[in-house]
Amino acid sequence: MLKENILTQVSHSKTPFYYYDLNLLQTTLETVVAESSKHNYHVHYAFKANTNPQIIKLISKSGLGADCVSGNEVKCAVENGFEPSKIVFAGVGKSDDEINYALDKNIFCFNCESMQELEVINELASQQNKIASIALRINPNVDAHTHKYITTGLEENKFGINPYEFEEVIVKLKNLEYLKLIGLHFHIGSQITDLAPFKKLCLKVNEINQFFLNKGFDLPIINVGGGIGINYHEPDRDNLIDFASYFKVFHDFMELRKNQELHFELGRAIVAQCGNLISKVLYIKNGINTNFAILDAGMTELIRPALYQAFHKIENISSSSNSIIKYDVVGPICESSDCFGKAVELPETHRGDIIVIRSAGAYGEVMASRYNLRDEVRSYFSE
Ligand SMILES: *Cc1c(COP(=O)(O)O)cnc(C)c1O
Repeated sequence: MLKENILTQVSHSKTPFYYYDLNLLQTTLETVVAESSKHNYHVHYAFKANTNPQIIKLISKSGLGADCVSGNEVKCAVENGFEPSKIVFAGVGKSDDEINYALDKNIFCFNCESMQELEVINELASQQNKIASIALRINPNVDAHTHKYITTGLEENKFGINPYEFEEVIVKLKNLEYLKLIGLHFHIGSQITDLAPFKKLCLKVNEINQFFLNKGFDLPIINVGGGIGINYHEPDRDNLIDFASYFKVFHDFMELRKNQELHFELGRAIVAQCGNLISKVLYIKNGINTNFAILDAGMTELIRPALYQAFHKIENISSSSNSIIKYDVVGPICESSDCFGKAVELPETHRGDIIVIRSAGAYGEVMASRYNLRDEVRSYFSE
């Protein structure tokens, strides 16, 4: 079905392009909403994963909140109908303009990542004569066991406030009268495929939650971020992640008080599987030990393999050959890291064949660049 749709699209559109399955996105959204509401959990969509206007529109309709990491993402969320009362704003380097914009829109919460940021938000809020709701982004020192470039919850990472700073933060907050501390925020990393790190996170959060209560802060919001991984190896078998089991870990191990809400920020889990990068083979180059399939898509369209050695399933949907050959599937960009996969087994491949790079809906199109003066990448949708 998808294959037929892609081939039809290719017959009248220039490659490379992103091709999104909006039915799958819709099903994913319905599942997330159904599974999270069983526990009364609140889910924010992590905007940075994909900001394609059609994708954002569909997500906005589902009623999820928004998790933003820049002023422009906050703006994009507001302009696409996300309620400001469901927008959270994280990031280690929020500029004054970005903070002012978010204050102006009365967003739900700033997830603050450093002591100095608390002072700056307080100062800007006082100028607008507003009280800014904030959560402390805390570094729980939980190892997410994922690629080192996408782990975020360790002491050595740039994100969050460390537990040894808590006493100082508490003293400081007493003097920051334009801030209202409403919650604690955590995000330990991305593409976490094992639920054990989330259990560890829960146990850590319980301790910290109790610590703040002992200090007189009965905080209504606990936000545990996102990070649940998807199956890049078998996108057809697992086109939906097991949201029920994911939320159950929090249900089983998080000790929430009656007045506390649990919030999540999911990016990849929502959009990764609905997107594919479609490309054409430009050349086949046979070496002594290595055969190359050179595509018209490269790291400018999808940088994940070059940036963090990410795996994507690669399929040739136009060859019906029975002979399987190994290819290094590479792009046209003048960088050796411009490689989608090494020794990929494909049916014998020829110039003009259509190659689908699967599971590219998250951190794909959003990271596209015009390096080498490439055309801006296009996108199409199957309904
Ligand atoms: C990127 C990010 C997320 C989403 O991560 P996924 O792995 O895509 O679910 C959530 N929260 C914060 C603060 C982030 O930076």
